[in-house]
Amino acid sequence: MQTQTQYGYDSKIEGDTVVTRLDAALNWFRKNSMWPMPMGLACCAIELMGTGASRFDISRFGAEVMRFSPRQCDVMIVAGTVTYKMALAVKRIYDQMAEPKWVIAMGACASTGGMYRSYAVLQGVDQILPVDVYIAGCPPRPEALLDGLIKLQNKISREPLLKTLKKGRPLAA
Ligand code: SF4
Repeated sequence: MQTQTQYGYDSKIEGDTVVTRLDAALNWFRKNSMWPMPMGLACCAIELMGTGASRFDISRFGAEVMRFSPRQCDVMIVAGTVTYKMALAVKRIYDQMAEPKWVIAMGACASTGGMYRSYAVLQGVDQILPVDVYIAGCPPRPEALLDGLIKLQNKISREPLLKTLKKGRPLAA
C-alpha cells in the first residue's frame, strides 16, 4: 500500500508525474514551515531559546522563523507559567494569529500550572486555548520540544483540509 511519505519527492521518478492529494500536499507545506510565536513566560523559555540555537537547531524542522508578531505565526509555543494577569494577553495574541494555527504547551506550568497551585496561576493554558501538544518536564529539554514539534507535524499531516477554524474557550471567570 502506498504510504503518505511516498507521495513526496522521489528521485526515482524525477521528471515523471507525481500524483498526490490536495490536502496531503497542503498539509506537507504547512507542517514543514511552521513559524513559532515564542510565548516565553518563565524558565521554560530558556530551553525554548536553546532549541533555536545551533546545537539543537529547530530549523531542521522548518520552524526556525520565530516571529514576535502574531500575524506572522502558525504555532504558539507557551513556555512558562501562565498567571491570570498574563492570561488575557496570551489569549489576545492567540486570537490575532491567522488560521490555521496550533498551540504547544511546553512544560508542567503551561500544561497544568505545575507546582503553582496558586490563586495567581492559571492551572493549564488549555483553559483558554485549544492545546494540540503537551510536553512534560520542568523544564523539558530541547529534545523534548523537538519531539513535541514532530508530534504536531504528524498531527497536521492527518488534518482534513477544511479544518481551519478552531475556537479558543472563553477565559474562565
Ligand atoms: S515547568 Fe518548571 S521550568 Fe518550566 S516554567 Fe514551570 S517552573 Fe519553570
